[in-house]
Amino acid sequence: MFDLKGKTALVTGGSRGIGRAICEALAAQGAHVVVNYVRGEDNARAVVSAIEAAGGTAEIAGFDVSNMGVAEEHVSAVAKRLGKLDILVANAGIAQDGLLLRLKEADIDQTLAVNVKGALGCAKAAVKSMMRSKGGRIIFVSSVVAEMGNAGQTVYAASKAALLGITKSLAREYASRSITVNAIAPGFIETDMTNALPEAARTELCRAIPLGRIGAAAEIAAAAVYLASEEAAYVTGQTLRVNGGMYV
Ligand code: NAP
Repeated sequence: MFDLKGKTALVTGGSRGIGRAICEALAAQGAHVVVNYVRGEDNARAVVSAIEAAGGTAEIAGFDVSNMGVAEEHVSAVAKRLGKLDILVANAGIAQDGLLLRLKEADIDQTLAVNVKGALGCAKAAVKSMMRSKGGRIIFVSSVVAEMGNAGQTVYAASKAALLGITKSLAREYASRSITVNAIAPGFIETDMTNALPEAARTELCRAIPLGRIGAAAEIAAAAVYLASEEAAYVTGQTLRVNGGMYV
């Protein structure tokens, strides 16, 4: 089950956290993985080394998804170089938290540029390649806050909710081309993004999670492997919530 041998995959923001776990999990199932990053080249190289040490294949591709044109060009170049792109995981994301009254327009623009326009640019190029190869998988990494909301995360939540609308629309747009489009909505997951939380906030957070703990990046990666697989061929336009029951 979930055999990805012969498949090519690109994971944006694959150099750390959830993206890294997704890269390793897709490679473990046999996919050749392209690890995208924006600043962390050493981290991206470390992901490739870990994948190779485990018997898989991978390569790095550094580019900033926040520039839609640049993102499109790079994804197209990856697809051309590899001959096809079977799986896109649009995972790169940033959170610039703050109450609306304190948010600056530049912060809002940057969050939307990375989280929404970046995902759209990558998806646009991926769709072009997937239409040529008559099928593919697009997976957007959204968030539990897209559906729940969270004080202090208005813009981040908006960007992640946008991905759910994009998922449903693209699923309808490209179903006839055998391209499935789904989203994963993680709850709170142990990564650099959440490590900054003070211990008291983490304890408080765990009280709001029925399973009583913060999730592991590998638990999100497992969902990505499923959605990328042949076994998920009849699943499109859906949001797979992996959140310990935090939002049901
Ligand atoms: P993270 O540890 O902060 O890692 C972010 C990744 O995105 C890094 O690989 C980073 O690359 C990359 N990135 C950031 N800006 C980029 C850009 N402009 N172009 C290309 N790559 C860029 O984040 P994470 O916690 O793993 O989160 C991954 C995704 O899951 C995000 O979309 C996030 O919103 C979502 N999510 C996370 C949680 C959570 O609890 N952690 C919960 C729900 C949803 P560099 O290493 O080069 O900086």
